[in-house]
Amino acid sequence: MTNLSKTLRENLSKHYTINRIKTNLIQKSNDGTIKTRFKLHDEHLIESVLIPVERDNRFTVCVSSQVGCSLTCSFCATGKMKRMRNLDPGEIYDQVTMVNEQSLEHFDKPLSNIVYMGMGEPLLAYKNVMKSIELITGKDGLNMSPRRITVSTAGIAKMIMKLADDEVKFNLALSLHAADDTKRDSIMPINETNNLDNLMDALAYFYQKTKNKISYEYIAFQRFNDSIQDAKNLSKLCKRFPVKVNIIEYNPIDGSEFSKSDSGRIEDFMDYLKRQDITCTLRRSRGKDIDAACGQLANKEN
Ligand code: SF4
Repeated sequence: MTNLSKTLRENLSKHYTINRIKTNLIQKSNDGTIKTRFKLHDEHLIESVLIPVERDNRFTVCVSSQVGCSLTCSFCATGKMKRMRNLDPGEIYDQVTMVNEQSLEHFDKPLSNIVYMGMGEPLLAYKNVMKSIELITGKDGLNMSPRRITVSTAGIAKMIMKLADDEVKFNLALSLHAADDTKRDSIMPINETNNLDNLMDALAYFYQKTKNKISYEYIAFQRFNDSIQDAKNLSKLCKRFPVKVNIIEYNPIDGSEFSKSDSGRIEDFMDYLKRQDITCTLRRSRGKDIDAACGQLANKEN
């Protein structure tokens, strides 16, 4: 930038660096989903996914918050990778702006929603995630409403309470996946120190303080968590505050002990919930041919 003085340029390069993330690989699914692998300044790789639903004018990006993850959920490919570090706010923000450009290029529409459901546990990168949301919602950023942002957590009660105390304006999703402690302990080790009672107390507090939307993400695993008894257990967790349940089709990962629930079992499960007046939607798997679906992000090439 020769329009700046030489001294200023020297000072800038001495004290600052610009570590913009770089596109490393783009994969397109038959269903329109686009997965992008980004390379960070220290050579680490992360992934973001653009999920278009053109008929609803919905263009959602799923962003990563950490390189790898420390939480080792048994059904998740990211959980098999070691956690290397948290992403800094700029690296999260870059994913959003770069995928926004992709959305404009491919669909002629900007992003409508952002979900923190990619690689990593956002509440363990708390400060950076909060700062990135400040950038995304800021006037100098994308000026996006926080109501269009959802942060998803595997369930860290203390941090959910912190979100409440910080009076955040975005939505919160709990990756529930099992509605009793024994089953949840067996697939999500974080549940051993943050059991369902603790999580429900934290979520009730979050709702009381913020009135923001809460949802449960529930991957249906064949004959593990998809019986009517499981639906009964789940319905008990929907009583204390308004909550929407998203049932997600499972995408098997290499070496997984689980398989996808039959559609009949999912239907019965959802019918039970609906009869209890619980709002629930089936999230069909997107981008599974390019390993871009829920729980599949692991920097793998197809
Ligand atoms: S599901 Fe989320 S919290 Fe669990 S291992 Fe995968 S990325 Fe980490």
